[in-house]
Amino acid sequence: MDWRTDLAMYREALRAERIATARWDIKTDRVYGDSTMMNLFPGHLTDGPYSEFLLRRPGLHPNDVKYFESLMRFLQAPHHEHADASHEIVVEYRLADAGGQEQWFHMRFIIHFEREWPRDAILLLRNTDSEHRHEETLRQKAERDAMTGLYNKGHARELIDAALTVPGTTKALLVLDMDGFKKVNDNLGHLFGDAVISDMALSLAEVFSSDGDIIGRIGGDEFVVLIRDVENRDAVVASCEKLRDMLRRSFEYGKNQTLNVSGSVGIALSPEFGDSFETLFSCADKALYEAKRQGRDTQVFYTDALREGEKKNAGENEIAEGREALLDHPVEFIFRMLYETRNPRITVETLLSLFAKYFMVHRVVIYQNQGENAGCWFEWHAAGILPTEEAHEGDVGEFLNRNYRKEIYGHFLEFADTSKISGKMGKILPARNIFALLYASVMNGDKRIGCVGFEDCRAPRIWTKREHEILRTFSDILGTFLIDQMHYKMVRRGYRRLQGVLDAITGPLWVVATDNGHIAYMNRATRAMLAKSENEETKNCYKVRTDTNRPCVRCEYAKLHANCPGAIPLREEAERRGLVPIPIRWNSGLDGHLYLIDK
Ligand code: GH3
Ligand code: MG
Repeated sequence: MDWRTDLAMYREALRAERIATARWDIKTDRVYGDSTMMNLFPGHLTDGPYSEFLLRRPGLHPNDVKYFESLMRFLQAPHHEHADASHEIVVEYRLADAGGQEQWFHMRFIIHFEREWPRDAILLLRNTDSEHRHEETLRQKAERDAMTGLYNKGHARELIDAALTVPGTTKALLVLDMDGFKKVNDNLGHLFGDAVISDMALSLAEVFSSDGDIIGRIGGDEFVVLIRDVENRDAVVASCEKLRDMLRRSFEYGKNQTLNVSGSVGIALSPEFGDSFETLFSCADKALYEAKRQGRDTQVFYTDALREGEKKNAGENEIAEGREALLDHPVEFIFRMLYETRNPRITVETLLSLFAKYFMVHRVVIYQNQGENAGCWFEWHAAGILPTEEAHEGDVGEFLNRNYRKEIYGHFLEFADTSKISGKMGKILPARNIFALLYASVMNGDKRIGCVGFEDCRAPRIWTKREHEILRTFSDILGTFLIDQMHYKMVRRGYRRLQGVLDAITGPLWVVATDNGHIAYMNRATRAMLAKSENEETKNCYKVRTDTNRPCVRCEYAKLHANCPGAIPLREEAERRGLVPIPIRWNSGLDGHLYLIDK
């Protein structure tokens, strides 16, 4: 092949790849382009001096000018290291076309040197707009919350952890939560709720600088902000106040009804209270809880006093630990306490007092609706507070049974201010010092078999998400296996071995051995699901779960243990079905995971 054929081939290849080429004579500052350059990428050539054109091209993104400036500086100086050789420089830049549409380009300059001075450069130009946008979309998806465009929790945590390692400045972690947001959803619909969340995100972006601060959405109406450089507390307070002014709004609905929303903020300073997301978040979250407790629409700094208060309220260390566990892993915690106990009654009472202390309520009550123990069954009340029997005398108990509403987290009866209840209960309850109450139903299928609840006997209060969640968990676990009369008797008789407890739970559950994935025990409800002819010894997990005769294809345990006759693909399957695994010790020695159906 002679050089002409070679050249034609290269040209064709470049054209096919949509790469345009040009030669820039640096000494005369003139550029000579190929036809692709003219046709494909108009606006990239000029008859005049090329260096000036590169710097002052109309449509060039102002932030990208600096790359061309540094190219020019490079070209205007001698480079001994490249003498009589070549060197490549790549510039990526955005250029708007005549219609104002911005596109990404990638220009490679292969610079040839005559001794130490640049002589000419070969330019290779590509339009990389779709690649850039694709990358950007992928990055956004991984890092951003789809609704607000703010960082998602995972990415915010990474950025914040990184920012906290930079020494020398005081930083503040803010946890923000909307007040009264549930009512927006309930009365104006989820779409409207979404709009309120998006609006909150915009307010955050307006108050906090997106250059310096890190803003993320960590859950429904909860957000975090890291301020990297805190001048003083007053500056943080001023920002919070500005934000709260923007969040405080009223919405009209129905017949002259209004509902009010606002925002509460918990703040923890670093390095004073920690230098990791984890520790600071937990402090700021507690401060947020305090802000909610103080009546909302305010900001609270985490302080030593708050920490001390926490300890004091908790009493013994054991209880303090219990509280952490209670909040972090409520299902596991409550279940453990109940199944390790020798005396269920004392354990239930301990749990109730723990709830009472943590949530600062004055009465915690368990009711059951049927059987010989129908009525108030367990209670804890603070010193100086009327016993439940007296406080609930007359038709209060019956009133509690009506008026339940199904919410996302379960069936609840909720009053933030009992004096606003219409009818006589609006008078009776406050007169008996019940100012606010939150009850969760204990359900058996569609039937309410009891309830567990909190009461505030000092002042009205708005009940938080955590209070709803803990009551639901509590009613699910404790209620289900203790409230039923028969099971209660069983426990009372001293039948407190795990099997008994598991059997007492009305939903199907089973224990899977950690070491081989075999089913170690199935409770009564699970056994009832199986055909009568089956017997337990021959039972494999897949039989229980899917009633097939083959092990599951993606079973983790089957992979680990070639001999496993079949096991469930634990984590995946459990996640898919919303099952909560609880690690347990089974028959003194065998480690297992307990799966209970999370209703
Ligand atoms: P509090 O002052 O205690 O925070 O009261 P609140 O009414 O704001 O209650 P909470 O923060 O517990 O409620 C958050 C609710 O947000 C619960 C959930 O139903 C709802 N939620 C979670 N994610 C979304 C979402 O993406 N869109 C909408 N519209 N609602 C959401
Ligand atoms: Mg909220």
